Amino acid sequence: MKTHHSPEGASNPRRSFLKSSGMLTAGLFLGGSLRASVPFHLSGPGNINTPAILGGQPVRPAQWIKWPIWKPETDEQRVIEVIRSGIWSRAAVVTEFEKEWAAALGAKRSLAVVNGTNALVVALNQLNIRTGDEVLVPPYTFIATISAVLSNGAMPIFVDIDPDTYQIDPDKLEAKITPRTKAILPVHILGQPADMDRIMAIAQKHNLVVIEDACQAHLAEYDHKKVGAIGHAGCFSFQNSKNLAIGEGGAIVSNDDAFMDRCFSYQNYGYPYGTMVGAISAGSTMQGTKVRLTEYQAAIGLSLLKRLDGETTIRNNNAAYLKSLINGIPGIRPYKLYDKVTRSAFHLFPFRYNQAAFKGLPREEFLKALRAEGIPCSGGYTVLNDQLFLKDAFESKAYQNSYPKEQLNFEKYVAENKCPENEQLCKEAVWFTQNMLLGPKTDMDDIASAISRIHQHAEKIKLAEKK
Ligand SMILES: *Cc1c(COP(=O)(O)O)cnc(C)c1O
Repeated sequence: MKTHHSPEGASNPRRSFLKSSGMLTAGLFLGGSLRASVPFHLSGPGNINTPAILGGQPVRPAQWIKWPIWKPETDEQRVIEVIRSGIWSRAAVVTEFEKEWAAALGAKRSLAVVNGTNALVVALNQLNIRTGDEVLVPPYTFIATISAVLSNGAMPIFVDIDPDTYQIDPDKLEAKITPRTKAILPVHILGQPADMDRIMAIAQKHNLVVIEDACQAHLAEYDHKKVGAIGHAGCFSFQNSKNLAIGEGGAIVSNDDAFMDRCFSYQNYGYPYGTMVGAISAGSTMQGTKVRLTEYQAAIGLSLLKRLDGETTIRNNNAAYLKSLINGIPGIRPYKLYDKVTRSAFHLFPFRYNQAAFKGLPREEFLKALRAEGIPCSGGYTVLNDQLFLKDAFESKAYQNSYPKEQLNFEKYVAENKCPENEQLCKEAVWFTQNMLLGPKTDMDDIASAISRIHQHAEKIKLAEKK
């Protein structure tokens, strides 16, 4: 994501705007620093509110809180101890991190692995999701959700989203269930919880397992229960952008001991573990892989986990405040949370942008204008369920040898998996990243002011962009 306003991006429209408004000489006179320095007497009282993309002062010249946050005085001790110990491969610190992560979620067990993608791969594998099985997934997600299904040889079946919450729509689940369906994989996308009561009820009725992709939803809650600890298994990511950042890292959580023992064994060459009995000298008890976390990664996790709860509260408070500020701006429609959501993670703060209410200013131009105001933002995900990586998987030897031809007809698959609500959301969404929600309330005021300013001057911005 582009986080900073690029001067090139703004100078052309500004220049043409200046030309069209007869201000070109003033622009040339002031040179390249015009954007941040139009003196009041030149810009005139009517222009004090000029959008930054048209040469006004940016609403927010200051930087945002950088992510991840690292405080040497409190965060480094643990990591240095591990580095100096020379015990770097998986040992006691990873185990301690797993215990703390399970406790933070109110889950019985947790297993740390190299990343969120592999947490999903291992969990699906040890829930016996394999070739021929169908897994119900939302289209509004990060590619890794889908890759994890494909890498186990299974078939992702897309279920459209709820247009208000952006989560997999429980109303649309049952129509997609076939005799081949084995699992539902809800993603608590953007850190907002999916409608777990209804998803669990449908899963129970049809005898399906539920694997929660909670890679963006650390400490989010549905009906006071932490997401990731509601389904049969939950998967988390600790990649650098995530609300608990380790650089790379992931975890599976579950209350099922036998399942967690199998996962442990699988991520450690298939060696015996817990109820997966045997002696290492006697060899592996299952066909496994190796995706273990290191001790120093766990040490970073333990240090930063101490702040996660407090940070989550700040994000929730700021998100609610920001939502209240922008709710009234015409053409801005913020997310909704399900009634039973008691806490969100706000990995991202989303809203829908309605171009028509901004005089036809396209979303891309709105994003550029917002960045010029010093507000980093993105348009979020593009449509996933017709991309070539799916076709590539279908054309692979493994799929060709194990699925009936008609199930691998890509055009047919794309048609059957169409998700119009998702396509609309991908066109309209605007996101702010979680670190922007960690500052004081005045940061939220800045975001809202910038959006209002662009709304107020939408016509002028659009005309300048056209020239
Ligand atoms: C980040 C993420 C993943 C993958 O996690 P990695 O640690 O990057 O492998 C999976 N699903 C979702 C929804 C994510 O946001």
